[in-house]
Amino acid sequence: MKKPIIGITPQLNDSGDIVSRPGYIECIKRAGGFPIILPFEENIDQTVDLCDGFLLAGGPDFDPVLFGEEKLSCCGNISPQRDEYELRLISAALASGKPILGICRGVQALNVALGGTLYQDLPTQKPSSVCHRMTVVGSDVIHSVDILEGSPLRALLNTDRTMVNSYHHQSIKNLGRGLEITAVAEDGVIEGVSLSNHPFCHGLQWHPERLENKDTERIFAALIRACKI
Ligand code: MN
Repeated sequence: MKKPIIGITPQLNDSGDIVSRPGYIECIKRAGGFPIILPFEENIDQTVDLCDGFLLAGGPDFDPVLFGEEKLSCCGNISPQRDEYELRLISAALASGKPILGICRGVQALNVALGGTLYQDLPTQKPSSVCHRMTVVGSDVIHSVDILEGSPLRALLNTDRTMVNSYHHQSIKNLGRGLEITAVAEDGVIEGVSLSNHPFCHGLQWHPERLENKDTERIFAALIRACKI
């Protein structure tokens, strides 16, 4: 049986290799999808035609110029090639109505693509006692998120609160057009959004692909299920 093709946004490593973390690939496969790593191909229309859904993956910081701010010293490494590519891709992907799941940088990319803004560095600009930047990569969780009542994420996860990991130092500041908040951390940091009037467009600030639990299964199963092939 044909499997839905999920295009994963590419990561450029220090040597310039185009890579993807294995968790994205594994979770898509496990849910019945066919993952491909997008190769920065400039023909965005053909890219969008090729894919049945999209996974906007984690990665470096967004260039604040793209949301109308100067880059502060607290902002981390940026990848102009990836910024430019993702903004074009997201715009075309949104127009296609095909399912989109944004993870970590991916939710931030979605927000910027829709005209929203980001905190360049949470500890500097929105200090709190919640640790959003875990230093150990593993399957551990570190903070809770409240899943808002009536939100599409609540319908998907069927819970009002869950524990998540956290590998970010930036987050959504002002929401992009049409986005609604679906999850928040105890300190008010936005941890989940979805796009109103879209069949399936979710963004999560945590990394479900690094957790093995029901939430992760449900999120990836829903992404694959939403693909029309
Ligand atoms: Mn967090």
